[in-house]
Amino acid sequence: MTTAPLTERGKKLLRQYTPPETIPPQMLYYDAGGTTYHTHHCPDESQHTWMCNSPYCNSLTDLCPDHGGEEPIKIGREPWKR
Ligand SMILES: [Zn+2]
Ligand SMILES: [Zn+2]
Repeated sequence: MTTAPLTERGKKLLRQYTPPETIPPQMLYYDAGGTTYHTHHCPDESQHTWMCNSPYCNSLTDLCPDHGGEEPIKIGREPWKR
């Protein structure tokens, strides 16, 4: 077994930060106060996708709030904390 030399040339230690998911142009999204976005698939006729950053979403395939679905839970407004 060989170990990598400590001074390995060309090896970069600094990384560029890339968010897990960024919001593309034209994308519908819901700001729930979170930091990372995930993608929902609305089962409406249009079958559109939308993104939100609520950390409390269990299902990603429910109707979006615009199509009669429930609003994602906002950070700081969790119903179980009231
Ligand atoms: Zn969500
Ligand atoms: Zn929808």
